[in-house]
Amino acid sequence: MIAIGIDIGGTKIAVGLVNETGSVLAQQSLKTDPDKTPSQLIAETAQVVNSLLEQQNIAPADVKGIGVGAPGPLDAKNGRLDSPPNLPSWHGFGVVEELRKHFGAWPIHFQNDATAATLAEKWLGAAKDADNFIFITVSTGIGAGIYMHGRLITGASGNAGDVGYIMVEPGAAGTEGYWEQIASGTAIARQASELLGRPVGTKEAFDLAAGGDAQMRELIDVTYKRLGMGCVSLINTLDPELIVIGGGVSQIGEPLFDAIRSYVSQHALSPAGRRTAVVPAALSQNAGLIGAASLVHQAY
Ligand code: ADP
Repeated sequence: MIAIGIDIGGTKIAVGLVNETGSVLAQQSLKTDPDKTPSQLIAETAQVVNSLLEQQNIAPADVKGIGVGAPGPLDAKNGRLDSPPNLPSWHGFGVVEELRKHFGAWPIHFQNDATAATLAEKWLGAAKDADNFIFITVSTGIGAGIYMHGRLITGASGNAGDVGYIMVEPGAAGTEGYWEQIASGTAIARQASELLGRPVGTKEAFDLAAGGDAQMRELIDVTYKRLGMGCVSLINTLDPELIVIGGGVSQIGEPLFDAIRSYVSQHALSPAGRRTAVVPAALSQNAGLIGAASLVHQAY
């Protein structure tokens, strides 16, 4: 059986056909053009789905369902986006109802994109053997998903794990101190640019630090500490056995993971918490699509 995965993002909507072993058989993206209405974009998404099914010779009876991952905050129960900052014209839009106009027959699953990616890490990725783990994505913002007691924790409205707005360090870096304001890729670039008095990208800030720039070294060290602080809050609250970290910033690799592990090993409250494993996500390519499809293929 095939799952149709749809990953709605600020810049593109990725559509893919994913089989039961997690292989993407075919995929295509369309731009989330702000000049088009959400209804128009969903109609275009439906056309892409139909053409992919046709290309692959897949009959409607071989489709198990549609999985949709979308940015939060959202209302998963009612299949609506709520107020995702990067999709202003979609605020309050009923994605599931609109998709049903095109695809009445198949079940439609709708969850926060980080929650969907969490299920994918359990299905095929770095958390295959874990029954209690947290997936964190450090990217443009910071998001997370929670998997506990062998189940995905979605919360009452589908916003569990939307951790970008947990308070980490009040007043830090001239902000209110929410985690993603001070430790996301966007936050790193903003602070680096302020310090050096010119536009500096996230990766460039890391490269300058590695090359010996003292200001950038200090910024990156503080950022690692802030990433560790957020992890410790989650560990103390949820008692996971494993933390999986993905997202663009995690591509820095071992220095970031070593720093977070070191912070966790010193600051988590319980002895078990201090031993929490912190590992890189295994799915990077197509993680959004496979996450959306996992909502169809995996029980949650
Ligand atoms: P999105 O937030 O759209 O899902 P990503 O997960 O790719 O996108 O995250 C984008 C952020 O990650 C940006 O701030 C970008 O500068 C940063 N980033 C991307 N690649 C790297 C890298 N190799 N090293 C450090 N930062 C990176």
